[in-house]
Amino acid sequence: MTDEREKQLLAGVPDGLFIGGQWRPAEGGRTLPVHDPATGEVVKEIADASVADGKAALDAACEAFDDWAATPARERAELLRRTFELVRERAEDLALLMTIEMGKPLAESRGEVTYGNEFVRWFSEVAAHVQGRYGANPENTGRMIVSQHPVGPCYLITPWNFPLAMATRKIAPALAAGCTVVIKPAALTPLTTSAFVQILVEAGLPPGVVNVINTSDSGGVSEPIITDPRLRKLSFTGSTQVGQILLRQASERVLRTSMELGGNAPFIVFEDADVDKAVEGALLAKFRNIGQACTAANRFLVHADVAEEFTRRIVERVKSFKVGRGTEEGVTIGPLIDDRAVAKVEALVKDAVARGAKVHTGGQRLDRPGSFYAATVLSDVQPGSDILRQEIFGPVLPIATFGDEDEAVRLANDTDFGLVSYVYTENLARGQRMIERLQSGMMGLNMGVVSNAAAPFGGWKLSGLGREGGAEGINEYLQTKYTLTPNPFA
Ligand code: NAD
Repeated sequence: MTDEREKQLLAGVPDGLFIGGQWRPAEGGRTLPVHDPATGEVVKEIADASVADGKAALDAACEAFDDWAATPARERAELLRRTFELVRERAEDLALLMTIEMGKPLAESRGEVTYGNEFVRWFSEVAAHVQGRYGANPENTGRMIVSQHPVGPCYLITPWNFPLAMATRKIAPALAAGCTVVIKPAALTPLTTSAFVQILVEAGLPPGVVNVINTSDSGGVSEPIITDPRLRKLSFTGSTQVGQILLRQASERVLRTSMELGGNAPFIVFEDADVDKAVEGALLAKFRNIGQACTAANRFLVHADVAEEFTRRIVERVKSFKVGRGTEEGVTIGPLIDDRAVAKVEALVKDAVARGAKVHTGGQRLDRPGSFYAATVLSDVQPGSDILRQEIFGPVLPIATFGDEDEAVRLANDTDFGLVSYVYTENLARGQRMIERLQSGMMGLNMGVVSNAAAPFGGWKLSGLGREGGAEGINEYLQTKYTLTPNPFA
């Protein structure tokens, strides 16, 4: 049920496509509904882009590119900095909007506004620091100049689970580098991106530099953009399955790509762990975003000597969680994004239980409106269970045990994914060995959350290509040129 404040907020979010500096309806006036997953209610109708709308957005990004690339880096940086300040002022509105369309508890939405906005600040700082190099070649016959150039118009596709952060993590570095973009948010959560882009406009965004399309036909609208010879870069965050389809499309024009894909994070608790810290870290790594994070701990591998204590303490805490609409005071578990997500979690738990797992709490869909699944803890999860192989994307914490370090490493690495690993140990040398032995792009060592705008976020194996954030993040939107000139003294 939306109250007056929510109605006002929703009414203020643009409902059009943003193309060439104008909010406008989709071709034929088509619209798509946006739902509140906590109630199932439609909260707003927004423009539903056609293939022609997608092309118009790319046209606008291409037209704006030369001027934006030539805009002094300092000006681009200042646009981002003004945006950062405005987002900070509007944090409460953005957080509420995210909770309405995505379902996460308000406290977590506030956290995402801070986190997402850090990418805007970070890349406002990076923008003016893009540099090349100049030097003699080893033979001293010439001078080598290495320069960096914006890659060109970019297409950005984002998922529904972090509606603000996934957009800022792509838009901010692209703009900092001098690229123009078309962004296509997930149709399930389009409103936050529109609200953010409206803030960019208030901060002085020139027409065509950022264009927004929302569509119920992601594949049909995206393919012509991805295969258009004018596009220079595709940055995608989403499932590995869709990432693979897009990589095949991108291969046609040997398009630069960044791929932030699925995960299957192990959370390892060694017998020498501080169990208090491990429990706190586990709850964060698992239940943040109602388990719907690519970095969510997916498999809890706990040494047999501490498994009982760890399980008991986790179960105590999980039983105290409050379920509800994310706007309600004290709620820690909101709805999943939709009923399909609930059905997937149900099937994974059913399979695990059929193979011998024990349910300590939860274990079923909740009988209330909206897409709710109970916070669940399973132990004795057997090897071969689907829940250990697939991304759960829900509030289920499956525990399996191991006997020694080699077994823990073997189990942890036994996946095609390699986004993040979590390790709890008080033994420094063991922690260092884990850094070298675990096959993942990121690792939390006695930490349950790793994300930071200053860090290179990204995965190994089927978890993706490229890095977002950190010193590395800007490189995804730059291309290198090497020039040789004669030795001026020869
Ligand atoms: P998804 O792959 O279904 O959708 C992601 C985006 O791709 C959406 O905007 C969707 O509309 C679009 N899309 C779907 N099919 C498409 C097609 N054929 N052509 C073009 N676009 C298409 O993923 P999701 O369900 O929105 O998000 C969950 C997934 O995202 C999980 O696997 C999660 O691990 C992953 N994820 C990864 C990261 C990361 O940084 N590695 C971050 C967040 C989410």
